[in-house]
Amino acid sequence: MSIDAAGLLAWYERERRDLPWRDPAVSAWQILVSEFMLQQTPVVRVLPIWLDWVARWPTPSATAAAGSAEVLRAWGKLGYPRRAMRLHQCAEVIAEHHGDVVPADVETLLTLPGVGSYTARAIACFAYGQWVPVVDTNVRRVVARAVHGLADAASPSPKRDEEEVAALLPNDASTPMFSAALMELGALVCTARAPRCGVCPLSSCAWREAGYPAGTAKPKRVQKYAGTDRQVRGRLLDVLRDSTSPVTRAQLDVVWLSDTAQRDRALDSLLVDGLVEQTRDGRFALCGEGEG
Ligand code: SF4
Repeated sequence: MSIDAAGLLAWYERERRDLPWRDPAVSAWQILVSEFMLQQTPVVRVLPIWLDWVARWPTPSATAAAGSAEVLRAWGKLGYPRRAMRLHQCAEVIAEHHGDVVPADVETLLTLPGVGSYTARAIACFAYGQWVPVVDTNVRRVVARAVHGLADAASPSPKRDEEEVAALLPNDASTPMFSAALMELGALVCTARAPRCGVCPLSSCAWREAGYPAGTAKPKRVQKYAGTDRQVRGRLLDVLRDSTSPVTRAQLDVVWLSDTAQRDRALDSLLVDGLVEQTRDGRFALCGEGEG
């Protein structure tokens, strides 16, 4: 069970995207910020927000010193804004308890707000060059095809997936690059819907050699955005982000008139999540700006 490391690494050197968080001069904190943003948002949307963010708040303490509302505004339209709050909390913990330095070991990273198994390993590997498996959806798919000859990856099982990828890692200093290359291959070549096997750098692939047997997984339904609670939440937050003072209920109500129950539910959920707060006189504001 192996993957053609030499072919993969040579391809990565040649073809990888020039993403700013891959610059060796970028700090562990700035890599952490990119991992938070990339959790549910495509690279192309993350790029401008990340560049502004790290220029404005280059360190955990700089981020921690910012207000919650400022952080939510800077998050812009990346979506899933609870991530911004978790990132802010993570900055506070690192600034206060870790000397303003992102921890390097997976166990400590896992104690930070918003840092799960994938993110902890990605930071240990990409920011600190550690020998740890980093497994995302792209990696799981490449391994399923190249190693197991299957069209699709099985359902995620973190322990099994990590052990499997650990067994594929080179035992030398190329590990971080190998992990990044595996992810990049899944993102650019071995894609879910249309793998470009003709340009694949791997000298052997069990799925290709077996004649591309069909998978058993049902095609995933593309998640709709239009008409969802997420869209309503986004519109309500847009009003609050654009305002320097608390707004009235009527100013929020006009953004979604087609389903008032859905709009009320979306506003309630923003209050429950702590992204929005109510002033004493009943108006609404981004968290931290309710008493303005
Ligand atoms: S040969 Fe095709 S299926 Fe196999 S790893 Fe390369 S792109 Fe993926």
